Amino acid sequence: MHPTLPRLQKIAFPAIHRGVTRTLQMNLGYLCNIACLHCHVNAGPHRKELMHRDTMQLALEVADRHRLSSLDLTGGSPEMNPDFRWLVERAQAQGMQVMDRLNPTLIEEPGYDWVAPFLAERRVEVVASLPCYSQANVDEQRGKGVFEASIAGLRKMNAEGYGQPGSGLLLHLVYNPNGSFLPPPQERLKADYQRLLGSNFGIVFNELYTITNMPIKRFGSVLISQGKFDAYLDLLEGAHQDANLDGVMCRSLLSVDWQGYVYDCDFNQMLGLPLGGAEHKVPLSSLLAASLTGRKIATAGHCFGCTAGQGSSCGGALT
Ligand code: SF4
Ligand code: SF4
Repeated sequence: MHPTLPRLQKIAFPAIHRGVTRTLQMNLGYLCNIACLHCHVNAGPHRKELMHRDTMQLALEVADRHRLSSLDLTGGSPEMNPDFRWLVERAQAQGMQVMDRLNPTLIEEPGYDWVAPFLAERRVEVVASLPCYSQANVDEQRGKGVFEASIAGLRKMNAEGYGQPGSGLLLHLVYNPNGSFLPPPQERLKADYQRLLGSNFGIVFNELYTITNMPIKRFGSVLISQGKFDAYLDLLEGAHQDANLDGVMCRSLLSVDWQGYVYDCDFNQMLGLPLGGAEHKVPLSSLLAASLTGRKIATAGHCFGCTAGQGSSCGGALT
């Protein structure tokens, strides 16, 4: 159990239930070429946890059984899993739309020059993290040199056609605050990103998703060590909007960890909160013969991170 969980579980969140589940989000492991301060997964270059191909196969069977139409790949850096390409091809062969959560600095690492052309060839939708258009802010949050490598990676994605008008190759960027505050309005920030990344670096993209930082894992620990944990929770709870409850991603998404256990979302996965609030971890195999629609969702104080202000989901603001 993550140390922030008991504190989060003391905070009540409105009861929510599943609608129709459409997306399978798979965490392919915690290996990443960088180690960002805000990372809610504690990913980094020395992590060894990686999903095996057998687990991927079982997850695809569950997706087929529940007619899940989208596959959302995350990590760590999902492309660092040796079976990444196999999985993308299998999922597409069974008719799923695939989305990859790309950390664009990976493209600049030795041995990963296949990433941009492979994603383009398979027409995978890409959501790339770039927490700011300012070099100083990105390097402070993600590490020295990360901004430069991100820009170089994004340029290679643009060269493959990503983000270019009419190409159909979708490239979205993700912003998250570099501290314990809520994101600014998404549309206004998108206009700033487009203007500054376009004029300074010639980079084009489709949408900007603003995502609220979650008070869990590395970011949660930073808040605790700085004595800001309770104040941040108060900020999230105070900014809660009921209107965001319908759009929270757990109502339509199933999250699976690298070992094949299932959760209502990636954040619950990181907290060790099993699907539906079950007492023990729930294996993928149990979903081969069970329904998901209408099930209760496991919630705690961190859920206000999804409903605060404009709301926040893996597809950005909700309202
Ligand atoms: S936030 Fe993303 S890029 Fe940064 S360490 Fe975590 S998984 Fe890697
Ligand atoms: S944190 Fe997860 S369970 Fe809670 S509202 Fe957000 S998506 Fe749903």
